[in-house]
Amino acid sequence: MSNLSWAATVRRVHERAAYLCEYCQTGQRVTGQAMHVEHINPGDDNDLDNLCLSCPSCNLSKAQATSAPDPETGDIVSLFNPRRQVWSEHFVWVQDGTLIQGLTPVGRATVVRLRMNRIRIVEVRKIWVRTGEHPPN
Ligand SMILES: [Zn+2]
Repeated sequence: MSNLSWAATVRRVHERAAYLCEYCQTGQRVTGQAMHVEHINPGDDNDLDNLCLSCPSCNLSKAQATSAPDPETGDIVSLFNPRRQVWSEHFVWVQDGTLIQGLTPVGRATVVRLRMNRIRIVEVRKIWVRTGEHPPN
């Protein structure tokens, strides 16, 4: 358990993530929505090492899951862990930055389980791309 207050922990999680969802990279600034502080392993504590910044959609889609099927093989694999894994090793932006493609079993399973290419987010990404707000560097 961290000895930071919860408010300080929340602030640290936001700053560490540069205010981007650590799964789909949606920026808080472009959505106008509050982000969630997500527990990577739901049963574990509020240690910074078990927390990540998540948009509401990724957080609600992930729910209690820590694993999901790879859509290519059906194998159950761990979901992407933003504390232990590097985003660009598991995901890549395609179609001008409007779609996230999984590069690995972990990436593919996470894209599907967290609904990272749901139609409404893809439509709004097109607007962000046109205005130069997306994808993040
Ligand atoms: Zn997200």
